Amino acid sequence: MYIANEERYNGMKYNRCGKSGIMLPAISLGLWHNFGDAASFENCSDMIKCAFDLGITHFDIANNYGPPPGSAEENFGKILKQNFLSYRDEMLISTKAGYYMWQGPYGEWGSKKYLFSSLDQSLKRLQLDYVDIFYHHRPDPNTPLEETMAALDLIAKQGKALYVGISNYNAEDAKKAIDILKALGTPCLIHQPKYSMLERTPENGLLDVLQDAGVGSIAFSPLGGGRLTNRYLHGIPEDSRAAGASPFLKPTDINESLLDKLNKLKIIAENRDQSLAQLALAWVLRDGKITSALIGASNTAQIIECAATISNLTFSIEELALIDDILVS
Ligand code: NDP
Repeated sequence: MYIANEERYNGMKYNRCGKSGIMLPAISLGLWHNFGDAASFENCSDMIKCAFDLGITHFDIANNYGPPPGSAEENFGKILKQNFLSYRDEMLISTKAGYYMWQGPYGEWGSKKYLFSSLDQSLKRLQLDYVDIFYHHRPDPNTPLEETMAALDLIAKQGKALYVGISNYNAEDAKKAIDILKALGTPCLIHQPKYSMLERTPENGLLDVLQDAGVGSIAFSPLGGGRLTNRYLHGIPEDSRAAGASPFLKPTDINESLLDKLNKLKIIAENRDQSLAQLALAWVLRDGKITSALIGASNTAQIIECAATISNLTFSIEELALIDDILVS
């Protein structure tokens, strides 16, 4: 039987999520890759235990994570049942709906019909009565935002999710969604944008909208899917995401221009006694605008390395300027 590390809350930093009552660990773990049916169940289980032992209380999933879609929720549900029943109240579990999940007109986007059906399916796969956060995963250009937000509001009021959030919304749509939810009496807890040294779009307005509204933010793919680590400095390892079937990271993404930047960033990291991954995560968390960096992992060593980031989150003005120069070069 798994017994969690008694020291687990001593090494992690917890940040308040916007103006809510919720604290998020500075590093959270996502189950997008490496938790589907092709993965070793034992390794998946070890990664969740390792994360929890390090004070990572927040686990992020979605209806479609796998492959096949739904299998990451199923596997996580089994891991929770086998090991974490007595720790449920110490865990913050999120899921999402928005992307394609099943055929026909009700299996994706943002209708009330889809969101309710999808969350019910997710709860069954996860073997949970409720999730802590339920997200609308991507904006829907055709469903009125009022319908989607009313569905999130009702889901929260029914207790199927304690909090609600949005993901992949631009600044303008995020503001509209936040205002609608506020008027309905269910504040938007959090936004989940893609944000890293390689993807800085949220700096153009979104992060300010969230700060002004008191909404938290959790940056997904803060390691650029693994590019902002030592993973690809000497070629493309066989067991890496870029070598696998993921359409989101291809061997051609590991190009000379990227490697040039990585080698320069690595020198800054070394001067700070950090790994490249730790530099990239610390940078995401540098000015307090991001509540948590939402990493993925394929083994426990990666999680241990990422969690250790929090021992050095401070940057000098010179370091930040140097990093900016490298990223635009
Ligand atoms: P990252 O950018 O953190 O990339 C994770 C990958 O980086 C790992 O799978 C691993 O690659 C590599 N890695 C991690 N730590 C280390 C380390 N210390 N040293 C070397 N390599 C390392 O995040 P993801 O792209 O995986 O996304 C994280 C989470 O964000 C997802 O699980 C999901 O929860 C969420 N997400 C949300 C989306 C949305 O639309 N809302 C979209 C995408 C993700 P390898 O597997 O090759 O070992």
